[in-house]
Amino acid sequence: MKIIKPGIMFIEDIDGDYILRKIEKMGRICYQSEPKGEPEKFVRNLVKRGHDSVLEHVQLSFIVTTDRGVLAEWTRHRKASYSVESTRYCNYGGNEIEFIEPIEMKDSDQLYALWVNSCQDVEERYNDMIDAGAKPQEARSVLDMSLRTMMGISMNLRSLRNFFRLRCDKAAHPHIKELAIPLLLFFKERIPVVFDDIGYDEEFYEKYMKGSYKEYIIYDKENFI
Ligand SMILES: Cc1cc2nc3c(=O)[nH]c(=O)nc-3n(C[C@H](O)[C@H](O)[C@H](O)COP(=O)(O)OP(=O)(O)OC[C@H]3O[C@@H](n4cnc5c(N)ncnc54)[C@H](O)[C@@H]3O)c2cc1C
Repeated sequence: MKIIKPGIMFIEDIDGDYILRKIEKMGRICYQSEPKGEPEKFVRNLVKRGHDSVLEHVQLSFIVTTDRGVLAEWTRHRKASYSVESTRYCNYGGNEIEFIEPIEMKDSDQLYALWVNSCQDVEERYNDMIDAGAKPQEARSVLDMSLRTMMGISMNLRSLRNFFRLRCDKAAHPHIKELAIPLLLFFKERIPVVFDDIGYDEEFYEKYMKGSYKEYIIYDKENFI
């Protein structure tokens, strides 16, 4: 059994200047005006006025490593495209099964120990099933919410804004918040203006993530397509 942290990997460059110029180009069609070399100002105005459909012209892709609980919550966001690791076809038997560390359980040694025991049990039961001749699609029934999974996600900027509003909020589950906040902060840095007005649960961020979103983001040219 292996316990790992969640994270987000980018597979292409996020060029904020290009993105703003693209939004401006498409947005100015509405007014039959030419780009005036101030895309930031133009996009800020669009966002302020809620002219959100123009933001749909930009779609971003990234790969998320997370648990099955977050998979269920994230994929409720319908305005997105997903490619998800299959528990029908991936055979975890014989390997160390990977589980995502539940960030909030660090508060309690007792709960954390119970969770580790439970993951060990799950791994044992899964391997028992495989050893007894079960196919992965049968053995998967004993897997649990903490199982590590990977999802390729593509979302446009409008949908991302909706996602961040809901999933960076105090009310969101800690596991999805643990990914949504770093992603929001990364985009705030790379694509100025589009996400400036969206807030997040700062108390959670400081308490559990020590104010360092970069540990969750892999933005490495070597992984770019
Ligand atoms: C704190 C929290 C708790 C939650 N608890 C539960 C729960 O207990 N049970 C549960 O089932 N879900 C729960 N959800 C999920 C929630 O109900 C949404 O399904 C999820 O957040 C996706 O949001 P969305 O529909 O805005 O996103 P998307 O599906 O990406 O949709 C984006 C936007 O498109 C529009 N839209 C999309 N489809 C339609 C449609 N059919 N009709 C009209 N407009 C549409 C809406 O404006 C919507 O906001 C919870 C979410 C949060 C944040």
